[in-house]
Amino acid sequence: MALVTTREMLENARRNGYGVGAFNVENMEMIKAVLRAAKEMEAEVILQTTPSTIRYGELSSFTAMASAEAERLKVQAALHLDHGDSFSLASQALRQGYTSLMIDGSGLSFEENVKITRRVVEMASPNQIPVEAELGTVGGKEDDRESRGGLTDPTEASVFVSQTGVDSLAVAIGTAHGFYQSAPKLDLDRLEAIQKVVEIPLVLHGASGLSDQEVQECVRRGICKVNFATELRVAYTDGVKELLREKPSAYDPKAYGEAGIRRVREVVKRKIQICSGR
Ligand SMILES: [Zn+2]
Repeated sequence: MALVTTREMLENARRNGYGVGAFNVENMEMIKAVLRAAKEMEAEVILQTTPSTIRYGELSSFTAMASAEAERLKVQAALHLDHGDSFSLASQALRQGYTSLMIDGSGLSFEENVKITRRVVEMASPNQIPVEAELGTVGGKEDDRESRGGLTDPTEASVFVSQTGVDSLAVAIGTAHGFYQSAPKLDLDRLEAIQKVVEIPLVLHGASGLSDQEVQECVRRGICKVNFATELRVAYTDGVKELLREKPSAYDPKAYGEAGIRRVREVVKRKIQICSGR
């Protein structure tokens, strides 16, 4: 099964009130782990990579691995550019076979954010590749840059969507990337207000470290795509560390790769369950 786009996935999620898990993958092992979990759960899934991950592993390599593995396992999977930081990276990702693009202009002024988002939407639309944008800023580190803060304004969100024609929108409602130093204060009323005026799927960034109930509460109020990155990185590394602690003489990357896969697969299965409300 070739990679699918996120369009139908997210529209179905919006219509039926559930969330699709979007999982950041850094290497072949994490791709395998996420797709195996999706297979076991009979779920659709989004694999995504940030610019720093692309610098590490290359767009073409991620496309090749993701599509081969999705095909082999017969899983409905999309490959999404997470936090695309330039028009050029977004168009390269499209050319290399990514089936969903984010352009993150949230650090720019409203007008500049509209402008770059619209350019990417126009570039991607002949290929019917959907585009995610971000308005307002999710706290903490977005990939490798620090963000400014500032929650999404519902009225601005509605203007932004109509001016850009974007397909999905990441909203800032009090979550942060990475792990939380203290319990986050989610602005659920704001989320509900945005959902009322914006008729496209909404995206939650910074879900690592939210409680299961909090994630489900967000899904109930209009979140259709939930991003998970930090928890997966931790799970993978914990699996590798544990194997090496138990067998300090191990030297075959397959042994600790497999240990990392097992851990990530368990986390992803649980997240799929939480997002889908199963
Ligand atoms: Zn993010």
